[in-house]
This record gives sequence, structure tokens and C-alpha cells, in this order.
Amino acid sequence: MFISVPASTHPYDCCVIGSGPAGITLALELAGANRTVLMFETGAARDVREDMPGAVGFGHLDVDHWNRHSIRVLGGTSRVWSGRCLTLMERDFDNPATGVAWPIARADLVPYYRRAAGVVERDPSIVDAERPWCPGFVLRPFSQRAPTRFGLKYFDALERSSKVHVVLGCSVVGLDANASRTVVETANCFHHPTGRMHRLDVGPRSRIVVAGGGLGNAQLLLQPRSDGAVPVGNESGLVGRFLMEHPHFHGVAELVVDEAHDSNELVLAANDEYATRYGLLGSTVICERPTTHHPLADHLAREHGRPFHHYTCAMMSEMLPSAGNRVFLTGERDAAGFYRPGVRCVFGARDLVNVETTLRLLGESLIASGKGRVRIVNDRLYRRAGGGGHIMGTTRMGHDGSTSVVDRHCRVHGYRNLFVAGSSVFPTGGYANPTLTILALALRLADRLVAEQS
Ligand SMILES: Cc1cc2nc3c(=O)[nH]c(=O)nc-3n(C[C@H](O)[C@H](O)[C@H](O)COP(=O)(O)OP(=O)(O)OC[C@H]3O[C@@H](n4cnc5c(N)ncnc54)[C@H](O)[C@@H]3O)c2cc1C
Repeated sequence: MFISVPASTHPYDCCVIGSGPAGITLALELAGANRTVLMFETGAARDVREDMPGAVGFGHLDVDHWNRHSIRVLGGTSRVWSGRCLTLMERDFDNPATGVAWPIARADLVPYYRRAAGVVERDPSIVDAERPWCPGFVLRPFSQRAPTRFGLKYFDALERSSKVHVVLGCSVVGLDANASRTVVETANCFHHPTGRMHRLDVGPRSRIVVAGGGLGNAQLLLQPRSDGAVPVGNESGLVGRFLMEHPHFHGVAELVVDEAHDSNELVLAANDEYATRYGLLGSTVICERPTTHHPLADHLAREHGRPFHHYTCAMMSEMLPSAGNRVFLTGERDAAGFYRPGVRCVFGARDLVNVETTLRLLGESLIASGKGRVRIVNDRLYRRAGGGGHIMGTTRMGHDGSTSVVDRHCRVHGYRNLFVAGSSVFPTGGYANPTLTILALALRLADRLVAEQS
């Protein structure tokens, strides 16, 4: 149900900060296991707010990019997402080319991926959507259908639930812990409609889950404390670092092959053998706008005596995690006294050359098998890369508290009751759109919290 202002004593099993796909999935899953949840959402039920004005953007993506991709409303950024769903590949969890491994494997997530498919109204078979296509490459189509808008789809479930209490228009602006930094004891929140600050005491058994999105998670865990001590949750000093996006390249290549596919069916990725042999980062070639009327298709048709089809290709790719790409706080504060974030995100030469290498290998494979051709559009690759609104890595997961922020259970190292949900925990991003993995991790976290509190 929706409530107006939280009580100062915290009688809930779990406090979830943020009501995007991660927060709503976690909250409803906990409620289904008879746990009580208090969920905070900065935004309103319906009116969308892009709430980061003043944020600074350095690098390949400017301020508008980050504003447009951090939506403040019930359901978070799912209000504008496109609904493309895909799992990470097995090698994304431990790809030597990235220099960092996840502390979990794909197999740990597969049962949760299947459950997550249901949350976004997809068939669980999307988890296995991969088949060989040409030497070195597999077909990995996205699941693409009407995007689930979490705040609309799950509004009634939240309203009816006696277990989940949702406070709208309320930002959590700071966390305080005990002296030994093992337990979060209070959360400070600002209620926008009344302009009042509330202090919430966290009960000894309660859990806090920060689920404010890739920027929002870092923003909260970087907020300075009045006593000048290290912000709660940033004992590693790594919060905000290793920010990753998925570089997007529109019209980056033309592909001509002897197969007809509908738009978005021909979606290709290097297979494991090629990825290992050539040290590739993740990337996918998305072949769009099929036509038989193209000079190169005509030429190959005449030469081979069968029809050829021309596609315009977009690509999405992986960024190497780098400590220099990061979310940081600017000196500017909002009405709640919350320091606004700035972002630095630079695509490196390795990220771009990886796309070129993948396209070149695809072209060579097509020529060797007599199947077709690839033409790279250099300008689109090296000068026009954009982002996808996939904000990852800012509270990375790992075994060691000196090199990561959360452990394999998404618990902030050293804390008993502080957790993070969302793509900020991804140590690497692969190329797959992140939300299905965010949901799988949220379901896995829910199981963990239920087990711990039983
Ligand atoms: C244009 C666009 C297209 C996209 N398309 C796809 C796609 O096709 N496939 C895909 O997988 N992904 C896509 N994404 C990404 C997808 O939207 C995100 O991965 C997903 O929404 C992240 O979920 P989240 O719950 O972690 O965070 P968010 O959805 O960002 O939600 C976070 C919520 O927390 C709230 N919040 C933040 N801080 C606080 C605080 N301190 N106190 C209280 N509340 C707080 C915010 O207001 C927000 O409502 C797209 C994104 C955009 C912008």
C-alpha cells in the first residue's frame, strides 16, 4: 500500500531505496515470502521527472544523456526503456580480456534468469536463445516485445499489498552506521511534498537495500557525512568507480548475405572459440532494414547466381572497466541537501578497436564460407559512438573488499545489513541489455534475505 510519511522507528524486515525494476521485483518477492518492506521512491506515481539537472558530464556522453537515463518515478527508468531482454553469456562472467571476473558464474543466475523472464512477461526459453550461424559466430536475438512499465504493471500489486509500504516523493539522502561500520542504524530521508527531513531508525534485524539505479546507488553511497568521515558503504573508496555503459554504434556497417531475415532477427555475436582466440570483448551486430535492392547485393547475386540481401548494422558493445570512468559528487546540492552527481565516461581505444576487430572477423568468415560481405563505416565507429542508458559497475561485486564494493550476495563488504541491487554491481557489462540480469540478481537477493531472516 502507499503511505505518506514513514514512522521514525523501522518495524520492517527490509527497507528498499528506489522503486525501479530492481526495487519493485525485490519488494514483491519479499512480500510473497511474508516479509514486510518499506520502499522509498524519490519520484511520484505517474509524473515522470528527470532529476539530475546540474550533473556534469565529461567524456563521450553529456549531461543530457545521464538525465534522460535516470528517470524519477514509480517504476524508475522502466518508464522509458525499450524492453529488449537478453542474458549475459557465460564468458561475460570470466573473460580474461576484461581483467576482472564476477564472483559468480552464469550457472548461478540461470534459475533466476528463468524466473526473471516471467517478471518482464517473457517466455523462460529466452535464456537459451542462441544457435550457431556462420564459422565463429552465433545468432543471439533479443526478446523484443512491448516493454513492461514496472510502475504501471505492478501498481495494483503494490497498492493491494499489506506487506509492502511505498513512500512516494521521498529521497533517502544519507545512511548512518554504528562505530565499527558493521550495521546501518539510521536512514535520513527527505519528503519532497512537505519539505521535511525524517530520520528512520533501522531495527536490529532489518536489511537495507540500495536500489536507486546505476547513478543513484553511487550518489547515495558517496554522500559526505557531517563529521567528515568516510560515507557509509564507501569504505573501499571504490563507489562510483568503474562506471560502464554499452557503447552503441548506429549504421556502423553494411552486411550482405544470402539469407533473408526479418528486421532484428539477424543478431550476431562471436562464439566462445573466436572470443578466446582473438581476446574479444562482448559485442553484437544487429542487422536491420533488410533489402534486396542494393548494388552490392545485386553484384553478389550476379556472381553467385542466387539472391543476396543487404542489411544496415547497428552494434552494441562492451566497455573495459576502468577506475577513471566514474560517478563523483559535484559541489551542487538539491532542495533535500543531496549532492548532485557528475559523471566521467570515456570510451577507450580498446573498446572501439574491439568493434572493428569483431566486424572484420565476421567479414572474413562470410567471405571464407561464400556467404556474403561486411563493409565497415569508419566514421560511425570511431566518431559517432553513443550510449544506451545502461549504467553499470559503480558498486562492483567481488570477493575482496579492497577491490570491490559488494560481495557475491550483493552485500556491502563489512556490513551485516547493507545490500545493493541493480546493474551497479556488475564487475563487467558484456554487451547484453542489463535489465534481465538486474532482475535475476534481485530475485537471488530476495532468496538470500529470506533465508537469512528465517
Ligand atoms: C531509453 C532507454 C532504453 C532502455 N532500453 C533497455 C532495454 O531495451 N533493455 C534493457 O535491459 N534495459 C534498457 N534500459 C535500461 C533499463 O531502463 C535499466 O536497466 C533499468 O531501469 C534499471 O533498473 P533499476 O531498478 O536498477 O534502476 P532505475 O530504473 O533507474 O530505478 C531507480 C529508482 O530509484 C529511485 N531513486 C534513486 N535514488 C533514490 C533515493 N536516494 N531515494 C529514493 N529513491 C531513489 C529513482 O527515482 C528511480 O525510480 C533502457 C534505458 C533507457 C533510458
